[in-house]
Amino acid sequence: MTASIRQQKLAALRDRIASPQDAYERCRVYPCPNRTTADQGEGLNRLYCRQHIEHYRRHGSYVKSSYRSQELRPYRQVALRWLQGHEDLPLVRRAVVSVRGLYASAGAPVEAFRLAGRPPRDRARAIWARLRAKEVHPMLVVAAWLAVLLRLEDDPQPDRHQEYRRVQAAKLLHRMAGGTHKRWERVLADGTIESTELHKHPVSRGRVLRVLGDTLADACDGLDASFIAAEARHINS
Ligand SMILES: [Zn+2]
Repeated sequence: MTASIRQQKLAALRDRIASPQDAYERCRVYPCPNRTTADQGEGLNRLYCRQHIEHYRRHGSYVKSSYRSQELRPYRQVALRWLQGHEDLPLVRRAVVSVRGLYASAGAPVEAFRLAGRPPRDRARAIWARLRAKEVHPMLVVAAWLAVLLRLEDDPQPDRHQEYRRVQAAKLLHRMAGGTHKRWERVLADGTIESTELHKHPVSRGRVLRVLGDTLADACDGLDASFIAAEARHINS
């Protein structure tokens, strides 16, 4: 950093400190220069700008992005192996039974394109129903939860808030549940077959992820990454 840039930054900092209303005007995420939505007259959020509010809705954190699927995959494998080796432990049994219960009470699967505008609770139920319809083994669902906990243990810059952990696990379930895929065929006048495909993936953000994450956390209550930490350590070594 050159001397003049440092001076400019110091001056800007002094200005922010000197202004008593500043906390309500600028986004709380450092060093985001945006104004809060309340200050812009666009919303009631006095702490964050629109961009960071959207980030939070999508990722469960104002600053940290989501884990990518390939980043979680090795942890899912370690978690699954551990669960398979310990399926008689009461905590593991309980979690698997809880997921089976969620499957059973999720109702009929609802197609993704019929879910727009439905309450988060309904949309979360639809994800359980899709997991059941796809015959995703309940142990894979429990492994998804543990995979996120294990990934966080290994992360040099983790977000340790409950919100992040639950949203990340919910996003993984969301992906595992997949979208709705439809294919129609019709015969045209010249005898050729025309096929139309529709792929719809529900958007992975907002309240539905919180509802789903809370439910999963309850189902897996008591299971902790520390159980598997020794085995997980092999991933990065
Ligand atoms: Zn911001």
